[in-house]
Amino acid sequence: MPMFVDTSPPGQCIFCRLVAGEIPAERVYEDALTIAFMDIGQVNPGHVLVASKRHAATLFDLTFDEAGALMQTAQRVAFAVREAFDPPGLTLLQANGKEGDQTVFHCHMHVVPRHGDDGIALSWPRKDPPAAVLAEYAEKLRAVMKPG
Ligand SMILES: [Zn+2]
Repeated sequence: MPMFVDTSPPGQCIFCRLVAGEIPAERVYEDALTIAFMDIGQVNPGHVLVASKRHAATLFDLTFDEAGALMQTAQRVAFAVREAFDPPGLTLLQANGKEGDQTVFHCHMHVVPRHGDDGIALSWPRKDPPAAVLAEYAEKLRAVMKPG
């Protein structure tokens, strides 16, 4: 995962400064709620970050409208990346919290063009719980799910 970790206080983080134009960035798109710009730590050509314009540390700090806008901009960027760079695959990555591998604590999503053997890997250690345990997990979620 990325080695850079931004420890700036809220509102002064690297992405807030970027939104405010205080630091340079290769912007590729912006609208009322989101901004998209090139990741200076490109893992593949065409790697773009999509961030909320308002400072929100994680997904949990976004409004539903901001979360929807983040995904819409990610899709818009993905179409552009596909047309401009023609990667055979594309991965969206959105991390929350240190344990979730978040390194800049201003909510953002990576749009990553993918190629075979590009060195990007996600460990996926399956646990395969029994059906009854899976049903318990589902019930815990249904009990607290926010209405749409
Ligand atoms: Zn910020």
